[in-house]
Amino acid sequence: MPVTTASLGFPRIGAHRELKFATEAFWAGKLDEAGLLEKARALRAANWKRQKDAGIEVIPSNDFSLYDQVLDTSVMVGAVPQHYRHLGAADSLEVYFAMARGTRSEPAADHGCAHGHDSGADVRALEMTKWFDTNYHYMVPEVGPDQAFALGTRKPVDHFVEALALGHHTRPVILGPVTWLLLAKSTVDGFDPLTLLPRLLPVYIELLQRLVAAGADWVQVDEPALVLDLGDEAREAYRVAYRALAGVADAKLMLATYFGALGDNLGLALDLPVAGLHVDLVRAPEQLAQLLDKAPADLLLSLGVIDGRNVWKADLAGLLGRYEPVVRGRAAVQIAPSCSLLHTPIDLALESELDPQVVEWLSFAVQKLGELHVLALGFNHGPRVIADELAANEIAIARRRASSLTNNAAVRARVGAITEKDSRRGEGLAQRIARQEGILNLPPLPTTTIGSFPQTGEVRKARAAHGKGALGGADYDRFLREETERAIRWQEEIGLDVLVHGEFERNDMVQYFGEQLSGFAFTKAAWVQSYGSRYVRPPIIYGDVARPAPMTVSWWDYAQSLTGKPVKGMLTGPVTILQWSFVRDDQPRRDTCRQIALAIRDEVNDLEAAGARIIQIDEAALREGLPLRQADWPAYLDWAVEAFRLAASGVASETQIHTHMCYSEFNEIIAAIGAMDADVISIETARSRMELLDAFATYQYPGDIGPGVYDIHSPRIPTVDEMAGLLAGASERLPAAQLWVNPDCGLKTRKWEDVKPALVNMVAAAKVARAGL
Ligand code: GLN
Ligand code: ZN
Repeated sequence: MPVTTASLGFPRIGAHRELKFATEAFWAGKLDEAGLLEKARALRAANWKRQKDAGIEVIPSNDFSLYDQVLDTSVMVGAVPQHYRHLGAADSLEVYFAMARGTRSEPAADHGCAHGHDSGADVRALEMTKWFDTNYHYMVPEVGPDQAFALGTRKPVDHFVEALALGHHTRPVILGPVTWLLLAKSTVDGFDPLTLLPRLLPVYIELLQRLVAAGADWVQVDEPALVLDLGDEAREAYRVAYRALAGVADAKLMLATYFGALGDNLGLALDLPVAGLHVDLVRAPEQLAQLLDKAPADLLLSLGVIDGRNVWKADLAGLLGRYEPVVRGRAAVQIAPSCSLLHTPIDLALESELDPQVVEWLSFAVQKLGELHVLALGFNHGPRVIADELAANEIAIARRRASSLTNNAAVRARVGAITEKDSRRGEGLAQRIARQEGILNLPPLPTTTIGSFPQTGEVRKARAAHGKGALGGADYDRFLREETERAIRWQEEIGLDVLVHGEFERNDMVQYFGEQLSGFAFTKAAWVQSYGSRYVRPPIIYGDVARPAPMTVSWWDYAQSLTGKPVKGMLTGPVTILQWSFVRDDQPRRDTCRQIALAIRDEVNDLEAAGARIIQIDEAALREGLPLRQADWPAYLDWAVEAFRLAASGVASETQIHTHMCYSEFNEIIAAIGAMDADVISIETARSRMELLDAFATYQYPGDIGPGVYDIHSPRIPTVDEMAGLLAGASERLPAAQLWVNPDCGLKTRKWEDVKPALVNMVAAAKVARAGL
């Protein structure tokens, strides 16, 4: 049987961000519902055609979503929480977008820590969180003990029929019932959503029956939770669920797993009564042998061999060689990207300004489907029929390997010479803090902010004008200096103790650094969906990373020249830069992270040499880098912590190193946080109250801590009492001598009119708390 090609999902946003513009126009009242739906239909039609033109045989439907596929699933099974129901019919766009965004929405932030969900909204949005270990965010389903389910929409059926009318017999994609329940959150403490499975299954059965009635044969059921550590209840849920779904006549299920190895769930997955199984062989090539060993002969294996999570060209000859025996040895094999292509940019052909050398190494969604097609030709008709493609591919791979861009001898020598001492400060924390106190002379409970001040329309406009060449370098510089000066003066005026320059010159906390480092590329149109209509263009780390010149010193220097108070140097940490980029796949992530760490270390040292007494290294993404399987955590945390320490340890004891993290769940990683050995850490705690400091208290965390007292995700202005109350709560848990007073995160997404009174109140709250000491 010939090898067939399949796509598990295609980016829905449109090569020119059509979906964003259409949904935002709809929200703004500038496009009516019919107009929005028409745009969505056109996008789906284009995507199906594109995949067919690329030579893909099994094309998905229902991978499209107006906002998020998990939200679609919640609405489809009728899990619309009561407080949205008054807004309209359960299957209406009003309700759908209210669940997605709340009924009043705020401009969104650049990164996950500050997603623009407005807690002051009339009806709040569902919670949003990261989809496994990707940068895609899904809307968390909410269910309770008296949850009822019913088929609320027939979107999978409608889209299947729509495709059929256009001549595409698609394989509908649905999110599996067990993963959906495992992602759901209970509205009642102690209730386990998984217990709802028996009530949920009839809806899935009805859906499958309707799909079959509409003409579908195969259905792709996504169960990425199968690559996680699962408890016995979850495993049993899988058995129950798929036994039930297997009862639907004529529905052949392709059970799709991705983002990792099935591992200890391999036996479970193979025991489920499904017709096909998709496995991720990019993330977990090692699972192949066991899989072949145990898979029943009549199971259709779908081999995920093209990387759906990254942007690199595949090694075609290598893949042909590796999978040839599998193809020969089995009755039927399908090849596919490792996961949905949702996580990759759409079309490399749009990148006219990238270095052609680098372009030759890249492959986006459209190109990846082309690679898949070529591979299938090779398997089915022998390598000779794809000789030209193989030759070109081999040249590209060889050039990438040998390029001076991927092999900077100086960087490699420096990384090779790293010793243990390089990631150790000269003295222990206690000595350092004592020395720092002697110099800084800060009051107890010192006040500060996390770094950025509002990126106003004016700031964005000036940056855009500068980008287009309409505003000259000198004028742009003058503008930024004025903004900075205003921010410094104002911080002095309201009595903050440690000032920041405000980050007005930064477009984004990763991009700003990437643009000044070698080894990074930035694209024009390589957007990927982060959530809803929020898309990002992650930098592409293609080469060895070096820092040709100081990146932030002149801004710090200017800001410090304006005031006698200490101004914090402000940097993004190596793990966060890595985490929010497309990372080269020709060396371990750890090695790339070490290179970035050395570049940041140079910047830290230069800031110190320029006179900075306090330097903050943000590691907003350290926690989200945690691997999916707990067994892989220690190895990750080891190198992540080492990278931070490498960046931070080149300075004298007198120099105070801060770090900042945009979350509050530290229980599981508190030892690693301690091992980072920062002098001061600021974290997010305003919404979750100070109980979350318990992790630090129990661990007897030795450094200083700034628990956020001002929830920057909301435009609401916190009162003095409220913040003083939070500080009192904090000092019940930790010695006041260890505490700092700061907001939860940077203020770039807020407006000055919110920020000003809030920080005035924060300073007042610190005074109240000091008086009580
Ligand atoms: N210094 C950054 C800022 O204030 C930190 C943001 C973050 O950690 N997400 O914007
Ligand atoms: Zn933050």
